[in-house]
Amino acid sequence: MKKYCLPAVMLAIFETIAITLWLTKDNLFYLFNFSYIGIAVSLGIFLFIRKYRYARRVAQLLVGCYMLVYLGLICGENMQIEGFWYYLFTGVFEAATIHYAVAKIFGPLIFGRGWCGYACQTAMILDLLPYKVPERPRKNIGWMRYITFGVSLLFVASLFLSHAGGIEKIMFWAFIIGNGLYYGVGISLAYAWKDNRAFCKYLCPITIFLKPMSYFSLLRVQCDKERCISCGKCKRVCPMDVDMTDNSRKRKNGTECILCFECVKNCPKNAL
Ligand code: SF4
Ligand code: SF4
Ligand code: SF4
Repeated sequence: MKKYCLPAVMLAIFETIAITLWLTKDNLFYLFNFSYIGIAVSLGIFLFIRKYRYARRVAQLLVGCYMLVYLGLICGENMQIEGFWYYLFTGVFEAATIHYAVAKIFGPLIFGRGWCGYACQTAMILDLLPYKVPERPRKNIGWMRYITFGVSLLFVASLFLSHAGGIEKIMFWAFIIGNGLYYGVGISLAYAWKDNRAFCKYLCPITIFLKPMSYFSLLRVQCDKERCISCGKCKRVCPMDVDMTDNSRKRKNGTECILCFECVKNCPKNAL
């Protein structure tokens, strides 16, 4: 039973958040929302432990479709970074600000970039593309994420500064166009650079929050040096170019780990 601790702990964390927000904000939606996400993510981890090949896909589709279709299209909530800025500027701790606080700012202190591995609606599509393992060396252009981050901030700030009318409608269309852009650019980069996760590595503005917080993550892949035979298989299958055989927090690309556990699955000595 010990091996099922992780999904149980994840579910407990999400249920704690769900119940706390439900009671403090007096809104039943938060109970449903975080319970649903917690169940989906825990189910993905549970299926992974049961060695189901598509375990992570199950979680990605359950959470990704929920974010995109239910929250985005049906409820009209912009859960992208623009939605976060929007609620931040209005001074309301609702919707996207809560989502960012839990999944992308404070949550990564516990579960690192689990969001990127199990829940992101952009990666849900990118991970279906053919280049699951990058075929080319990593490029040194990660600075580009600061540009997309700045553009998203400037876009929402300009709406407020210019006192634009119908700002909620603009945010809805920003959600549609923003997602379309993410998919378009993400898929193009994946094929151009033969790397499904090229968008995540170089352009995604959310990594500005995710990377520094996940540096301190409690949950991380560790290497048992006694068992490791330095065969290098783990590094060859990693989609994010992490040096997971180095246990230090400063390991190469350490804050890129999306906890997909491909390295763990492929280690012939169970050293990870
Ligand atoms: S880096 Fe960005 S696009 Fe990629 S999985 Fe994470 S949040 Fe999604
Ligand atoms: S796959 Fe396992 S044994 Fe091989 S280098 Fe990685 S941790 Fe060591
Ligand atoms: S293969 Fe291992 S080190 Fe690489 S992203 Fe997945 S879990 Fe992290």
